[in-house]
Amino acid sequence: MIRAILFFVKLALLVAVAVWLVEHPGMVRVDWQGYRLETSFGILVLMLLALAVLLYVLVRFYGSILKAPFAFLNARQERKRRQGYLVLTQGMVAVAAGDPDEAKRLARKADSLLDDPPLTMLLSAQAAQLNGDEAAAERYFTAMLKRPETEFLGLRGLLTAAVRKQDSAKALTLVKRAHEIKPQTDWVLRTLFDLQVKEARWNEALATVQEMAQTKLLSAETANRHRAALQTERTREEVAKGDTGEALDRAKRALGHKADFVPAALEKARLLIEAGKHKRAAKLIESVWAVRPHPDLVPLYERCWPGESALQRMRRFQHLASLNPDAVDSRIAVAGAALEAQLWGEARGHLDKAMAAGASARAYRLMASVVESEYGDAVKTRDWLTKAAAAPADPAWICGNCGAQAERWHAVCGNCGAFDSQDWRTPPRAETDAVPALDARADARADARAGTGQTQRPPQPPVILPPAAQPAVAEATPPRPD
Ligand SMILES: [Zn+2]
Repeated sequence: MIRAILFFVKLALLVAVAVWLVEHPGMVRVDWQGYRLETSFGILVLMLLALAVLLYVLVRFYGSILKAPFAFLNARQERKRRQGYLVLTQGMVAVAAGDPDEAKRLARKADSLLDDPPLTMLLSAQAAQLNGDEAAAERYFTAMLKRPETEFLGLRGLLTAAVRKQDSAKALTLVKRAHEIKPQTDWVLRTLFDLQVKEARWNEALATVQEMAQTKLLSAETANRHRAALQTERTREEVAKGDTGEALDRAKRALGHKADFVPAALEKARLLIEAGKHKRAAKLIESVWAVRPHPDLVPLYERCWPGESALQRMRRFQHLASLNPDAVDSRIAVAGAALEAQLWGEARGHLDKAMAAGASARAYRLMASVVESEYGDAVKTRDWLTKAAAAPADPAWICGNCGAQAERWHAVCGNCGAFDSQDWRTPPRAETDAVPALDARADARADARAGTGQTQRPPQPPVILPPAAQPAVAEATPPRPD
């Protein structure tokens, strides 16, 4: 509409000018170098207009002739660039398809077509990797480190190679550099943490856990468990160095992150006992026992009451068991103390209940000791040992990642290297053939208890005492209900 109005306005103006020129014809005369031009004013205006149009056309034509070579070059470059990107894409597809020769060929072609080293270097490096040419791949990745836009990609390539070669020290250096560039990237934080743990850099790993928790890579619960595990390893490190003050502080921090973390509680209780703080150790063991009873706490609890008689210690264990009365470990702990106090009926009663609740082989072996100590009956003792062999395997520290069993808790699985993967639980049935190893551990534990000098545990089966060696207190024991 507006365009139509404008057209009519222009047309009207043109008509007005034409009418004005017709109404005011006038003559123009030009004398120049002996030439004379005489014409009406209207014709002159028309001539001038025609001249202007001609000049305009000439200038445009000349300009396009001048620009022609540049336009041609531009079009060629654009075609080359498009072809380069196409080849690059095909190269990426070849990498994804695992075609090393095609990838290498296309990488070279893309490199010649594209003036974009960051993109072609990555393809060249990947093609070299695919060809098994690690040295060439490393060269490309190292070259990528020199450009800020490709540094991170280059680091990732070199890091992957270092991890594959199990060069943890080099991998750690590379991942730290990647962490400086992009500190919140998931894989950077995870790799950094894995390598720190592998290199036993517990303090650095603690800082990384903090970052992982901040970026929500770890839930608050997992982060706290990881912290407890790391601080427990730090505790052991300080114990090995002989700095018991620092060790105690670390164990305290571990329990601050997870109050029922048994490995930390064991370390702290041991340190407190060695420092003569028996009451504090007993309190700690009692608080952990209430939620997570563990057989390794038993010998430590015994050491909390130096100078007390076996009967007094038995009362202590009854108190400990009362904090978690339904736990099988509570029954077994009291039974062990009762056996030491030669209260065989009491010991048998607790063991019967433990077995009814599905106790493991440990309870059956203890029953063999009770029977052997009470009656000196080799046949009955062997019966119980046979039952022990058929009973469910004793719980152990089992890696949730690879299923390996460990005698002692470690933050890193000695078999598969997984972090914080060990839980105290009963091994799956298929693994219960490993009874000798578990027995050996139980024996070692019994030796440890004997080593404290505070136990009068009778010799472990299968050593059978002659009837004469039976303690005279036997009569004081209430008769068996059956
Ligand atoms: Zn494992």
